[in-house]
Amino acid sequence: MPPGRFFLPGPTEVHPEVLAAQTGQMIGHRGSDIRELMATNAEGLGPVFRTTRPVIVSTSSATGLMEAAVRNGVSGGRVLAMVNGAFSARFAEIARGCGKEVEVWEVAYGSVHDPGELATRLAGGNCVAVTVTHSETSTGALQDLQSIAEATARHPGTLLLVDSVTGIGGVETHTDLWGIDFILTGSQKALALPPGLAFGVASEAMMERARTIPDRGWYFDLPRLVEDLDRHQTPATPAVSLLYALETQLRRIHEEGIEARWKRHLAMMEHTAAWAAEHEVALLAPHGHRSPTVSCLVVEEPARLVAGMRERGWVIGGGYGRLGETTIRLGHMGDHTVDELDDLLGVLATLLR
Ligand SMILES: *Cc1c(COP(=O)(O)O)cnc(C)c1O
Repeated sequence: MPPGRFFLPGPTEVHPEVLAAQTGQMIGHRGSDIRELMATNAEGLGPVFRTTRPVIVSTSSATGLMEAAVRNGVSGGRVLAMVNGAFSARFAEIARGCGKEVEVWEVAYGSVHDPGELATRLAGGNCVAVTVTHSETSTGALQDLQSIAEATARHPGTLLLVDSVTGIGGVETHTDLWGIDFILTGSQKALALPPGLAFGVASEAMMERARTIPDRGWYFDLPRLVEDLDRHQTPATPAVSLLYALETQLRRIHEEGIEARWKRHLAMMEHTAAWAAEHEVALLAPHGHRSPTVSCLVVEEPARLVAGMRERGWVIGGGYGRLGETTIRLGHMGDHTVDELDDLLGVLATLLR
């Protein structure tokens, strides 16, 4: 398949230079070589998250760090799970699976939560943490993360745990400025790396909470991960090949500039929305709450459209979970350009009836 045609909402297309970087020879994970590599990567990751705190690099998929968020961030009370799609529902399930008491606050799939109502809910209950999915990849809805962080910050005992898997790298996000307690992403979405790494940032309050939880596990023990990170090390063997890919991709990301990257993603969302309006296709997420990285289109015969695109040499996403029979998804994220997306939309238009 020629480049610029793989529009799954994860994994995303990976640039040939980044793919090639993975073929570097192995290095030991206790020597100076890996420390240099990890130090370079740390320098590149901070600005992507807009943080001066250490960025944890986990050898796992993103779900691993969702579990880390719950294990390290929830104790002594309930977790309020904001659910508006399949991935935010997974966050609630993980919390339950870790034995936590979970209060689910569900709104219609495709919509977003009202930050004002969050403030009211938090005032009423013993919630020690809130889980939220920044960009709900199953619906294309973007939460107002800044307002959610402001509402949560008014309750100092409540930590905000954020799944930003299709946010970070594609959606304007200010981890430190907005006061987010834990935010995570995976390598294979807006960062356009192969799958297998996850990245996360923990606030000081999150680290303090973690240290009070004796049974927080080992592999995803945040204090252990951060302590090792300070020496540019990892507790267990890292995916060295992916660290090479990360080094190359971070260089490419900063060549473009993170703000230019955010703008490019916004433009891709706007092109999709304009195309949808022109062709009378509804987007599941409402105007003003659409994710710059993924669009979820309400269509008839989604399977026919996905298959038709594949026959014409393009890969798009089917609907996810309970939206499988009514929607398709375009993952316009990572290194994709507006021109590539316009080409795709042109082809998709010929398949509509
Ligand atoms: C893809 C995705 C996940 C899961 O990531 P894995 O790397 O498969 O574990 C979680 N949340 C969101 C919003 C996602 O898009």
